[in-house]
Amino acid sequence: MEPDGFHMSPEEFRRHGHALVEWIARYRETVESSPVLSRVAPGDLRAQLPPAPPQEGEDFSSMLRDVERLILPGLTHWQSPNFFALFPSNASAPSMLGEFLSAGLGVQGMLWATSPACTELETHVLDWLVGMLELPAAFLSTGPGGGVLQDTASSAVLCALLAAREQSTGGRANQEGCRGNLVAYTSTQAHSSVEKAVGIAGVGRDNLRRIPTDDAWRMRPDVLEVAIRRDRADGRVPFFVSATLGTTSTLAFDPLPDLGRICRAEGLWLHVDAAMAGTASLCPEFRALQAGLEFAQSYCFNPHKWMFVNFDCDCFYVTDRAALVGALRILPEYLKNAPTLSGAVIDYRDWQVPLGRRFRTLKLWFVIRHYGVQGLQHHVREHVRLAGEFAELVRRSRNYELFQPPSLNLVCFAHKRGNAAGERALERVNGAGKLYLSHTKLADRYILRFCVGQAMTRAHHVHAAFQALEEAGDA
Ligand code: PLP
Repeated sequence: MEPDGFHMSPEEFRRHGHALVEWIARYRETVESSPVLSRVAPGDLRAQLPPAPPQEGEDFSSMLRDVERLILPGLTHWQSPNFFALFPSNASAPSMLGEFLSAGLGVQGMLWATSPACTELETHVLDWLVGMLELPAAFLSTGPGGGVLQDTASSAVLCALLAAREQSTGGRANQEGCRGNLVAYTSTQAHSSVEKAVGIAGVGRDNLRRIPTDDAWRMRPDVLEVAIRRDRADGRVPFFVSATLGTTSTLAFDPLPDLGRICRAEGLWLHVDAAMAGTASLCPEFRALQAGLEFAQSYCFNPHKWMFVNFDCDCFYVTDRAALVGALRILPEYLKNAPTLSGAVIDYRDWQVPLGRRFRTLKLWFVIRHYGVQGLQHHVREHVRLAGEFAELVRRSRNYELFQPPSLNLVCFAHKRGNAAGERALERVNGAGKLYLSHTKLADRYILRFCVGQAMTRAHHVHAAFQALEEAGDA
């Protein structure tokens, strides 16, 4: 076919597309040998980039060469089997293919009418996940609730908060603004996205109470109850609690049954953030950790962390979609269409902050269909088992001790000779490039976090990582 203007021809697209797939496959086969943590200094990349964009188009192969030459050195390799930091962010092969297909189709799913399959597949797959994780049936779309894909858990908590805000103000906050007497609660261990959300929602960061935790870093229900009472006595309006299943620092699980009973008695919206740990519920033996979820009005977890779906993909559920849609719905003339006006379809633009939305479900659908429930369960169990093996090595270590028993796929441990020794050991192993793990600080202790969840991590990577840590800890 003749080139059309300056566009890439279909033939060129085929050629470069095949080359890119080959490049990615090779990258993933060899990523293990690259230093996990990028070693560039601030400004290194920009100093090598031309100050101005090209006036004439360039060949794709020169772009790919520059990816190797300029971009790769500035990457931390999240897909390395030696990545044990923060949380896993897997880009599995079926997920990447789904992402690519989504880009190839290039549809917008803001309204049912703008791509019906985009909406209906999403609703269906999110219903599948309710069964796969044994979530409360109230989250199914077949009742008053339902699920939607958000980009991140941060967006999910913001949407939950906005829905709760509208509900508790009888729908006035959207119109009149937030009057400053609403109060939200979360634990001192909750993710920073809760604090960000209360700021954005106009509730005000000063009106977020950070409830202390017990000795296992779980929100204390007794303190929550007292705080709610005190706020009511001061003329404030408690309206929202965000609990966590699997906190960021130590993967602690807030006591949902107790928190839920308080929320129900006090009429507060309970949101549950299970960003990474939610994936564990694929396995029946880990589902006890989500006991009490039936009290929640909203829930989210991130398949983009531990369920092999590449970023971004957050599953967000509500028990009352009318509350969510009531907070976010807006219908300008140019979006009016017969299916919307009939009320017979879901328009997901009303379930999120942005208007536009891409076909995010494809990658989730591909992952679930490629692995099957059993395949996903296998890998989750394997990661938990490997974390257990690592914890065993720490128990026998000459340098380290467990800070707490392992929680699912996360092991928190500390240097026996104190914080400075732990910090030095971490700097040494991360600097050597063979692995990457991160830290947290709790109870004045410098804690190393070893999170197993990368798709390609095997037992020998875990054992080699421990060996490197042990040697770094000697010095
Ligand atoms: N909640 C918890 C418990 C997390 O650990 C994290 C990420 O580390 C988040 C929320 C934020 O996730 P996202 O990047 O999807 O907003």
